[in-house]
Amino acid sequence: MAKIRLTKRFEFEAAHSLTGYDGACRHIHGHSYVLDVTVTGVPEKDETNPKFGMVVDFGNLKQIINESIINRYDHCLMLRANSPAALEIRDEYGKVELFDFQPTCENILLHFVEILQNKLPETVTLHSLKLAETRSSYAEWYLSDQCSAF
Ligand SMILES: [Zn+2]
Repeated sequence: MAKIRLTKRFEFEAAHSLTGYDGACRHIHGHSYVLDVTVTGVPEKDETNPKFGMVVDFGNLKQIINESIINRYDHCLMLRANSPAALEIRDEYGKVELFDFQPTCENILLHFVEILQNKLPETVTLHSLKLAETRSSYAEWYLSDQCSAF
């Protein structure tokens, strides 16, 4: 059966700061992040299944990504846990995520990969994830790039 890649796009607003970075991104600032989630699978063959002809219901994908990522990170401030003001800021503002990694586009992307690999239905495989900070800057993770694991 032919495999199909299915992609759904999500958007969320978040702020971050790169502790110790030697550029403008060391300051707290925001991005309109765009997250593209791509899965592979075979369209449902059972005509009696309400999802007949679908790799996965876009609605299911939306619900999974919203619950595991978007609801948590939309309108949040993402900081490295060891940044000087992290704990103080967390007490002052409601939605602050403290990471043990630098919240670069690359690291946030990897964090999302880890979250999603346990959340997707067994009938699909996470093929790739693309996280854009701006219209011209993005990071991508591809399962096929992770040679050592397969
Ligand atoms: Zn930034």
